[in-house]
Amino acid sequence: MPDPSVPATMRASVLLEQGVIEMQERPVPVAGPGEVLVRVASVGVCGSDVHYYRHGRIGDAVVDAPLVLGHEVSGTVVDVGPGVPETRVGERVAIDPQVPCRRCRHCLSGRFNLCREMRFYATPPVNGAFADYVTAPADFAHPVPGTMTDEAAALLEPLSVGLWSIHKAAIGPGDQVLVAGAGPIGAMVAQAARAAGAADVVVTDLVASRRERITSLGATRALHPVEDADAVAALEADSFVECSGATPALLQGLRAVRPGGTVVLVGMGADEATLPTAYLAAMEISLTGVFRYVDTWPRGIALAQAGMVELDALVTHRYPLEEVEAALDADSDPQCMKAVVQVS
Ligand SMILES: [Zn+2]
Ligand SMILES: [Zn+2]
Repeated sequence: MPDPSVPATMRASVLLEQGVIEMQERPVPVAGPGEVLVRVASVGVCGSDVHYYRHGRIGDAVVDAPLVLGHEVSGTVVDVGPGVPETRVGERVAIDPQVPCRRCRHCLSGRFNLCREMRFYATPPVNGAFADYVTAPADFAHPVPGTMTDEAAALLEPLSVGLWSIHKAAIGPGDQVLVAGAGPIGAMVAQAARAAGAADVVVTDLVASRRERITSLGATRALHPVEDADAVAALEADSFVECSGATPALLQGLRAVRPGGTVVLVGMGADEATLPTAYLAAMEISLTGVFRYVDTWPRGIALAQAGMVELDALVTHRYPLEEVEAALDADSDPQCMKAVVQVS
């Protein structure tokens, strides 16, 4: 039986156009075949949400119709669609916000993050989770243990970016890893790298408070990219994960990788940059990117449950659903690491 408390309408915080958020009353979505309906608990604010809010677009993805933001989601299953066992009602879940086609060559080869037909929360024209209820594919709504908070469950999404980054970087036991950027994603990458066995995780950031904080979130050392440039240049890192989006950090990190090492681009910075191609070729450095993630929730839940990653400690700012605008502006506070919207 569906939870009888599910109403007909709900609150949704809607981005009408660049910089304009409005609370609207909308019909509660209905779980379709293979889907669950989730009452939203916590939603993390991501840099991409902030970017859509401030600029109305990310590259080719343009907000040309009202859009609900938010894609880092936890909640409770309150109804199931056809084909989903009713025993799932009442389950606390964290949602992998991807809806791939499941039929194309990328999906069939296990690279569904690259599906050209992907529907992703809070990416035009697909609505996200700054609302009381969302639907999700039942197999992408992952049950979370009772010991995990709603906020931690929501932050499995940015942790997933970290886990997929260290997968792409092929980080293994004893590795030295350089990470540029000590924001939430840098912290997730650093923690995932440590969990994968990296012995030395060096994180660079210009901001002193961020460097201080990152040493309790996976980093073994935090360096200033300019003042400590000699120490960075002296590294022979097995891999470098660029999370800052800053071209100087990318160029610095490339040269801190050992011959045969790997560079992974995660941060969204300049669309184009001039790279030292002769150097990359001569050093046989592998250069790759990260676009979302594949099947990372089970690993993230296991790591959090084992106490091998810290998620709750990232949350510095909390807002109710009525204050999504303030949540999207939380990064104006230099002390902000991660803002979360508490929906219920
Ligand atoms: Zn995100
Ligand atoms: Zn596909």
